[in-house]
Amino acid sequence: MASGILVFIEHVDGKINRASYEAVRAAQLLGAEIGQTASAVIFGESVSDAAAEVASRKLERVYTVENQWLKSYTADGYAQAFRQVIEQLQPTLVLLCHTYEVRDFAPKLAAALNRAFIGDCIGYKVEDGAPVFTRQVFQGKLSADVVAVGDAPHFASFQIGSFRGEECEAGAAEVSAISVNLDADIIRQQPEERFKEAKAAVDLTQAPLIVSVGRGIKEEKNIEIVRKLAEALGAEIAASRPICDNEWLPMDRQIGSSGQTVSPKLYLAVGISGAIQHLVGMKGARTIVAINKDPEAPIFEVADYGIVGDLFEIVPALTAEAEKRKR
Ligand SMILES: Cc1cc2nc3c(=O)[nH]c(=O)nc-3n(C[C@H](O)[C@H](O)[C@H](O)COP(=O)(O)OP(=O)(O)OC[C@H]3O[C@@H](n4cnc5c(N)ncnc54)[C@H](O)[C@@H]3O)c2cc1C
Repeated sequence: MASGILVFIEHVDGKINRASYEAVRAAQLLGAEIGQTASAVIFGESVSDAAAEVASRKLERVYTVENQWLKSYTADGYAQAFRQVIEQLQPTLVLLCHTYEVRDFAPKLAAALNRAFIGDCIGYKVEDGAPVFTRQVFQGKLSADVVAVGDAPHFASFQIGSFRGEECEAGAAEVSAISVNLDADIIRQQPEERFKEAKAAVDLTQAPLIVSVGRGIKEEKNIEIVRKLAEALGAEIAASRPICDNEWLPMDRQIGSSGQTVSPKLYLAVGISGAIQHLVGMKGARTIVAINKDPEAPIFEVADYGIVGDLFEIVPALTAEAEKRKR
């Protein structure tokens, strides 16, 4: 029956992963360009509140798929339920945000249907009325245009930060329930308590403000001056890889291709050169401010505001100013 774009909404106990709204925004934009409607689907045991939240975005429909075997996420449960949803709705395109959960189940789902899955895209363009997806290759050094071939639906996931979830157009979508048949036999995973980092750990992907420190800081004891700035701004502290390799900050603070990918409102890079492996993790930030004494540092190519100078002079001055404003 239906065609159009179907967006996967990820949530934990009804709390929607805001990255899902980035996929919704992608679907709104792409749908408008290729003349297709966009709908969303949410799986769980009791998801009406979450569905109502999603329905306040401009979408054709929000489908709820409620089943006791979807209470907790499992790759088998989600892939099987999603497959049945696709058979019922027959979308032409399924869009997802490239989260850990999506990486876990979406390739399995696409493979089971023998359909194309283009993962970790950073954008799209439309050629001859059809989407062409952009993926980065060779650690972000090159961008490749990728077209899905074969029968619909095609699957595409977008890197976090590729679209702005808060720019979703508002609307009043209708919410409809879809039923699926699942039973315990098909689910081979036993969900345990969700993984939580050590107490102090933080999910940097959700942080609105990040102050990130690089090798320009020179010594472990100097991290303190950046930490003070982060505190004064109410920001999370993060780092480039050498800082974490040296154990000056924990590994879960590392930003980049082998760390976290973040898209805060503000990313303040202190003494970071801007190696490609670092840039792929933060260039989705809305505003990037860089402090570096080298005017040729590559970080300035992606920065919205650049301060060329010695971080040991600039950071304490910024901290003093931020503290003044707090008072
Ligand atoms: C497979 C692979 C994966 C990788 N993954 C990651 C990753 O996930 N994240 C990551 O960050 N890197 C990663 N790297 C490493 C990456 O290539 C760079 O080596 C690293 O990002 C450099 O970190 P940096 O910018 O802190 O240090 P540097 O490149 O040494 O830059 C330090 C900067 O500080 C500036 N500076 C020095 N003194 C001052 C001062 N007093 N005031 C102001 N500025 C000053 C310098 O001008 C310089 O630009 C990876 C590398 C590989 C090969």
